Amino acid sequence: METIKTIQDLIDSYKKLPGIGYRTAERLAYATLNLTNDDRQAFIQALDDASNKVKRCPNCGTYFDEECPICSDPRRDKTLLLVVSDSKDILAIEKTNGYDGLYFSLKGTLSPLKNRTPDAIGINELKNRVTSNGVKEIILALPTDLEGETTALYIANVYKNNPDVHVSKLANGIPIGTNLEYLDNLTISSSIKGRIQLNEGEKKNAE
Ligand SMILES: [Zn+2]
Repeated sequence: METIKTIQDLIDSYKKLPGIGYRTAERLAYATLNLTNDDRQAFIQALDDASNKVKRCPNCGTYFDEECPICSDPRRDKTLLLVVSDSKDILAIEKTNGYDGLYFSLKGTLSPLKNRTPDAIGINELKNRVTSNGVKEIILALPTDLEGETTALYIANVYKNNPDVHVSKLANGIPIGTNLEYLDNLTISSSIKGRIQLNEGEKKNAE
């Protein structure tokens, strides 16, 4: 007997989630059918809300439903801007409670081979943000691979002769190719504290 189309559609939907193979998708689909009516309605409502109410902050890429909890926080230092290549890294840094500035999320790192040019990854938006917010220090928290290093050098170069904007990057000690989300809080916060200066701009809040 073949699976009826309605159930098959549900299985196919679950299969789109990361780490879910066919068997698991099938199990989840039948488990969904076996939920109480109330639980299933709550599930449907949560999915509907996630797709209709959750927005992505145009400034830092963080997900929010009312207003961005980071950008709208008046206690944060607007002159400090930490740059990541993936907004998932913001969550990793937020968990350390060791950073009180704002964030900017690039769309990846520079890679000429993959057509990721400065325009494509949002360098212009970054420059606009630095100017409009009066940013005094840019902290680069980019991947430690070749593309990440290239991107860091490119940005440092943009502000090379700008005495008002200091550019630094996270201290060494983050293993090459490691994503921030897999690091412990102490490693992340000490690499923020021990950040390395990349240009001659004014250094702010340096420990
Ligand atoms: Zn934001």
